[in-house]
Amino acid sequence: MICTIRRFLQQSFRKIWPWRQNAPDHLNFSFCFGDAAMNGKSNTHDGGCYCGAVRYRIQGVPDFSAHCHCRSCQLALGGAFVTWAKIPAGNFSVTKGKIKICEKTPGIRRGFCGDCGTTLTYAADHVVEGQDWSKDAWFTAVTLDDPTIVSPQNHVFVSHKQPWITLPEGAPAFDTF
Ligand SMILES: [Zn+2]
Ligand SMILES: [Zn+2]
Repeated sequence: MICTIRRFLQQSFRKIWPWRQNAPDHLNFSFCFGDAAMNGKSNTHDGGCYCGAVRYRIQGVPDFSAHCHCRSCQLALGGAFVTWAKIPAGNFSVTKGKIKICEKTPGIRRGFCGDCGTTLTYAADHVVEGQDWSKDAWFTAVTLDDPTIVSPQNHVFVSHKQPWITLPEGAPAFDTF
């Protein structure tokens, strides 16, 4: 019902201001859930796998993102490198389907869609260089519906980087993490 009112108001505004794509922000009702157009203004962002069987939601914008060139990521994803992003673990939730886990190395869990194989998450039980990984939810940045909200900078594990990948001049690069 609220969505219908909002749509009516937006359509009315388009008639008054035809050059505007959307009504002014104060006509957007943030409690109108399920409307993808709301995501740009809200603090909630959705993502999911290639086939759509698994969907997830994050609260807020990732506070860190990096390109990982490690050999494990290369093989797990079938790509030369992967762009990871992280948010506090409590800000990540699966909203559809189930993430399947591959735990080849004990304590390191790579999550993927069991139907299409898209890698979605990475979790580790342990502390690495003073950082407790169990408090973070790591996920593949490109699986967000809007990957542009992520700002990856660092390249990590460049000691494993394929020789035919050339990093941009001056890009921050680290041999390990
Ligand atoms: Zn899938
Ligand atoms: Zn990696």
